[in-house]
Amino acid sequence: MKYSTDKSFCEELDQKDSLKSYKDLFFIPKNKQGKELIYFCGNSLGLQPKKTKEYIIQEIDDWKTYAVEGHFHAKNPWLPYHEMLSTSYSKLIGAKNSEVIAMNTLTVNLHLMMVSFYKPEKNKFKILIEKDAFPSDIYAVESQIKFHGFKSDEALIKLEPRKGECFIRQEDIEKIIKENSNEIALILIGGVNYYTGQLFDMQKITKVGHENGIVVGFDLAHAIGNVKLELNKWNVDFAVWCSYKYLNSGPGAIAGAFVNERFHNVELPRFTGWWGHNKKERFLMDDKFKPIKSAEGWQLSNPPIFSLAPVFASLSIFDKVGMDDLIKKSKALTNYLEFLIKSIDNKNIEIIDVPMRGCQLSIRVKNYDKKLFNNLTENGIVADWREPDVIRIAPVPLYNTFTDAFNFYQTLKKLL
Ligand SMILES: *Cc1c(COP(=O)(O)O)cnc(C)c1O
Repeated sequence: MKYSTDKSFCEELDQKDSLKSYKDLFFIPKNKQGKELIYFCGNSLGLQPKKTKEYIIQEIDDWKTYAVEGHFHAKNPWLPYHEMLSTSYSKLIGAKNSEVIAMNTLTVNLHLMMVSFYKPEKNKFKILIEKDAFPSDIYAVESQIKFHGFKSDEALIKLEPRKGECFIRQEDIEKIIKENSNEIALILIGGVNYYTGQLFDMQKITKVGHENGIVVGFDLAHAIGNVKLELNKWNVDFAVWCSYKYLNSGPGAIAGAFVNERFHNVELPRFTGWWGHNKKERFLMDDKFKPIKSAEGWQLSNPPIFSLAPVFASLSIFDKVGMDDLIKKSKALTNYLEFLIKSIDNKNIEIIDVPMRGCQLSIRVKNYDKKLFNNLTENGIVADWREPDVIRIAPVPLYNTFTDAFNFYQTLKKLL
C-alpha cells in the first residue's frame, strides 16, 4: 500500500477499518482534562475490556448464591471453567483444545514445563536462549540449570546479533544449533523478542531443533494475540505465555501453557497436584497420582475463578474478531506508523530493524537520552522506556487507530 503523511489519509484508513468498532469495547485511559491518551503500551499491559467487571461480578454473585454448589450450578460452573478458556486459547496459538491449559502465571509455567522438558544429561545439558531474553526467563533457566547440578555460565548458550546488527539472523540460529547439537538439551526462545520486537521463525527453529535431537519450547508472552501461531502444525514441544499483555486480561492475569499432544501419554518427570489428576477419579481421593492425559495434567491446584473471569471476558473478544483479521489490521497499522516515523528523518532516533515483527516498534534513541520519552509521556502518549536507550511502542489493532499513529507521529516530530 502507498502511504501518505497527510492527516486526511489516516482518517480515510480509520473509516475503512472493518475492526474500528472494537475500540468501543475497551476503556481508553484519559488525562486529567478528560482527553484520551494514545495508549501504545498494550504489549506491557493491555487495556480493560468494558465487560470484564461483569464477568468478575458474575462469579462473585454465584459464590454468594450457590456457595459450594457453584462448582456445578454457577452460570459458568467452576469445575470445568478453565475448559471454556482452552477453546479460545487453542485458536490463538493454533493448537488442539487438549494441548492448552489456563493456569498459574508465566514464569511458574515455564518452571513446570522445564521440569518436564529440560532433562540434562552429562554431556547434553545446555540451553539455547536469546542474549537479551526477558530477565525472568534467564533467572528461571539459570535456576533450573543449577537445580540439576550444572553451572549456568557453562550451560547457557546465548544467541546474539552480529556486530553492528540489531536482530538475530535465522541462519545464525541454525548454525549454532547444528554446531552444538551434541550439547544442547533445550532451545527456549521468545517467539517475539520483548525488546527488539523481532518475530522468530518458530516453525524452522523447531524443525532444525528436532532434526538435531533437541527439545524446543517458546515463551509467547509477546507473541500470543499479536502474531499468527500454529504450534501444533509446527510441532513445537511446549510453550508458555501470559495474558496481561496483548490478551488484555489484567495485571498478573492467569497465564497459559501448551504441551504438544505427543507428550500426553508418555511418562515425563513433572511436578504434580490434585487438579492434574484424572478428573473422573479426582474426588475419590486416591493417593496414587494418575495424570489427565492432556495439558490439564500439568495443573496443580483448583484454579482461582475470580482470576480466570477476566481472561474469559477478554478471550470472548478474540473469539469474535479472529486472529486473521486482527493481523491484517496489525500489519497495516504498524507499517503505516513505521512509514510515518521514518519520514521524519532525524538522526536522533532509529527504528530497530528486524526481518519479521508483530505490532511492536522499538525506537532507539541516540545518546541514551530519556528526555524524549519523558516529553512523549507529558504529551499524552503512553509508551515504555527500556534501558539503556529504547522506547517501545505497540499500536494494538484491537483498540488503536490510524489516527493514534498519526497523532503520535506529529507529537514525535514536534518534540524532535
Ligand atoms: C512479560 C514477560 C514475562 C513476565 O513473566 P510473569 O511470570 O508473567 O511475571 C516473562 N517472559 C517474557 C518474555 C515476558 O515478555
